[in-house]
Amino acid sequence: MTYSQNISTLQPSATIAVTSLAGKLAAEGRDIIDLSAGEPDFDTPSWISDAGVEAIRAGRTRYTPAPGLPELRKAVAGDLMRTAAAGWDFAGENVVVSNGAKQALFNVSFSVFGPGDEVLVAAPYWTTYPQALGLARAEARFVQGPEERDFRVTPRELEEARTPATRGLILCSPSNPTGTVYSLDELRDVARWARDHGVFLVSDEIYRRICFSEGNRPAAGLMSLNPDDVGAFAVIDGVSKSFAMTGWRIGYSVTERGLAGKLAALQSQTTSNPATPSQVAALRALTDFERADESINRMLVAFRRRRDLVVSLFREHLPHLAFVQPEGAFYLFVRVDSEYDEETTNSQEWCSRVLEESGVALVPGIAFGDDRFVRLSYATSDELLEQAVLRLAKGGK
Ligand code: PLP
Repeated sequence: MTYSQNISTLQPSATIAVTSLAGKLAAEGRDIIDLSAGEPDFDTPSWISDAGVEAIRAGRTRYTPAPGLPELRKAVAGDLMRTAAAGWDFAGENVVVSNGAKQALFNVSFSVFGPGDEVLVAAPYWTTYPQALGLARAEARFVQGPEERDFRVTPRELEEARTPATRGLILCSPSNPTGTVYSLDELRDVARWARDHGVFLVSDEIYRRICFSEGNRPAAGLMSLNPDDVGAFAVIDGVSKSFAMTGWRIGYSVTERGLAGKLAALQSQTTSNPATPSQVAALRALTDFERADESINRMLVAFRRRRDLVVSLFREHLPHLAFVQPEGAFYLFVRVDSEYDEETTNSQEWCSRVLEESGVALVPGIAFGDDRFVRLSYATSDELLEQAVLRLAKGGK
């Protein structure tokens, strides 16, 4: 059968594929340590889950408006305004609540970009960006800063990659897969470049609160900048990572109101609203600031400790492998090409070998656009992290 041109470049999610394989091997009785998943290992805080359960019991089980409950849209705007620089003015009308940040990203990509458009994607990139652009039939063009700068892009690299067809740029900070965080100045430079060249800036800020900064302050986001520095934009965010709510499927976009109306129309004709009880739970997460900060800080303490642990374990047991020093999110991006040989020639083969010989599941870097690396998620217990690194160090011996 022939398929539509619409899905001609579509590939299933590589990270989900590894996680499924690891799960299958574990179900067959293999002793697998799965460091492939892109989600916190914590349960959703009970004060948030309770709101979802109460919503179901109270019969809040019907449709809501397609872009989300008005009170939740307002809460998202209010939450953003808590840390926004002076001059920004958001209301619920700027927000569309979607089935996870992934749908928010798809809505934006599909509504803003199309055939003939080139969109710069800062690499290494989250595996979904080129796929979402492919569905919009736009073309992803990858742009990378030097490895010594942990791949951060600056206007120099962006300008080199820009062509007359360049319509957009997708940036993720803190980054999945590297954990790299752009400083306020670095972000400002990129935003000004985009503004000056009429480039629509998609800023994926889903890991913004998972940042190992002084005093656990969130990473800089577009709203931390002076509004004059920012041209046309979409901020993508959600509760999945910061509140350990990946399965609830609540993400959102923040854009100017005209675009928000288009995104809402697209969503009304594709999925309608995200699950109503999930929206009620997200509403609680985003309005009880005191408990939210407390829950996030507790998670941050664990992530920071694990980051430090995994970094020191790598330095001690695998000193020949370089990695990007992570400043946020919960990933270690490790360079493994020094171990390639005749049989193991790329990141996929390296990961398959390691899964087979050591029972450790990692994601090949090719899924993020760099075949020299693999991604390790340290969103798991200290014990498993220690065991995993020791197994990697021992190899197939
Ligand atoms: N953006 C990035 C960078 C991610 O890593 C993820 C999830 O892995 C998402 C967006 C999507 O989040 P959600 O689960 O809310 O769809």
